[in-house]
Parts: sequence; structure tokens; C-alpha cells
Amino acid sequence: MLYISGINYESIADAEGVVCTIFISGCKHHCKGCHSKDTWDFKNGKPLDDDLIKQINTEIDKRSFLSGLVLSGGDPMYSAREVHEMIQKIHIPNNNIWCYSGFLFEEIQQDEDKKLLLSDCNVLIDGQFELDKRDVSLNFRGSSNQRIWRKGIKGEWNYD
Ligand code: SF4
Repeated sequence: MLYISGINYESIADAEGVVCTIFISGCKHHCKGCHSKDTWDFKNGKPLDDDLIKQINTEIDKRSFLSGLVLSGGDPMYSAREVHEMIQKIHIPNNNIWCYSGFLFEEIQQDEDKKLLLSDCNVLIDGQFELDKRDVSLNFRGSSNQRIWRKGIKGEWNYD
């Protein structure tokens, strides 16, 4: 069962525009300087049962201005298959999904479940948080090693 550490229905910091961000529980990267250690536990927060899915959809439906859904954590890629299944049940704003992961794009390509989740997404921010590369001036990234990957119209991925 997938657990959800938290939900921000109107985030202005996690992607372009106002988005709904779901924090998926579970992360084994254990980056030095991580600000969300409580989300490392795969059973932190609430189980994603039918009631919670219904609640998420009700809240999303109230907000026609949302420009996307953000998958954060934790690291959604540790629960890639379950997150992919969750996405099938959620009303995705603007058909736009962003995903934050400590795995590199190249590592995601080596795993069928992770690749499947990536195929649901339009944007991937990849790489672990590296304290010595921390840069608060960067949009959507905590450290300069992380990359913003965008899927093109033909399904090809490129980073900024
Ligand atoms: S990947 Fe993210 S949640 Fe996981 S330890 Fe690193 S900074 Fe924390």
C-alpha cells in the first residue's frame, strides 16, 4: 500500500504555475541535508485508500486554475508501479505531471517500473540533493547537480 506524507493543493513553488503536489512516502537515498527526513519512512502519513483518492479528486476539481500535478516525496520512483497506478485514478490537472526523483534519468531508464512512471510525466527533476552544491537561486532544484528534464512532442527527453 502506498502512503502519502502530505498534499499541497495550491503549491506555487514546485512547478510552473499553481499545482497540486503529492508527497509520496518512502526514500532510501538519505541525502545529507535533506529537509524532509520524515518522508523517508515508507509508512509515513496516510495510506492511499479509496477515500483519500476521492478526497484528492474533489479538491483538484474545485481548482480549475491548477496547471499540473507534482509527484514529490520521499522519492516517487521508489514506489514507481504504485504511483503509476495512483495516477490512473487521479484527475490530472492540465494533463501535466512533474516528478521529483533522487534517481538519475539514466538510472530510471534501466528499470521497467521507473520507466513506466516516467512515461506518465512531462517533466522530471532528477538527482540527489548534494549539500556542497546547494544553490537557493535555482528554480525547482536544491542543488546544481540536479537537472530539469522535459518531454518533447515526440516523446524525447532533454534537460535544460
Ligand atoms: S531524494 Fe529527496 S527526500 Fe530523498 S533523501 Fe534526498 S532530498 Fe531527501
